[in-house]
Amino acid sequence: MSTDCLFCKIVRGDIPCAKVYEDENFLAFLDIGPIIKGHTLVIPREHYASLPETPAPLLADMMSVVQRIAGAQMNALKADGINIVQNNGRAAGQLVDHIHFHIIPRFTTDGHKWNWAAKSYDSPAEMQSMADQISARCS
Ligand code: AMP
Ligand code: ZN
Repeated sequence: MSTDCLFCKIVRGDIPCAKVYEDENFLAFLDIGPIIKGHTLVIPREHYASLPETPAPLLADMMSVVQRIAGAQMNALKADGINIVQNNGRAAGQLVDHIHFHIIPRFTTDGHKWNWAAKSYDSPAEMQSMADQISARCS
């Protein structure tokens, strides 16, 4: 538990939230600034800053909660689709340093567009080199 972490304050009940789901280890509540209405955050009660620091078993259990919320959004809101977003580090847009998944209901008519500008590799060799660098640190 971190004293000045916003999401730890929500876990403690010091800051209110629109609760969607809770169990022994996790809490889900509406994002205060939704990309689409119904946009929900899933957090562990325990404080971990981001994905690399979070124990793998906790992360595995967290994915079950993410799946549960996604299913509930599909059923309750009649969503046509779901985006799952998880930011790590300022460069990736993480503003709150308590690991969380964004579960965002999507509708064919919602008008939202991700600014996803696909780039390309200079050569097949550069692409393979990138794969090799990451692969070497996978185990
Ligand atoms: P991220 O940029 O991935 O760290 O996302 C942090 C999210 O927390 C943002 O989408 C904010 O809108 C959301 N947020 C900030 N304060 C609150 C709050 N008090 N209750 C609910 N969501 C919040
Ligand atoms: Zn925290």
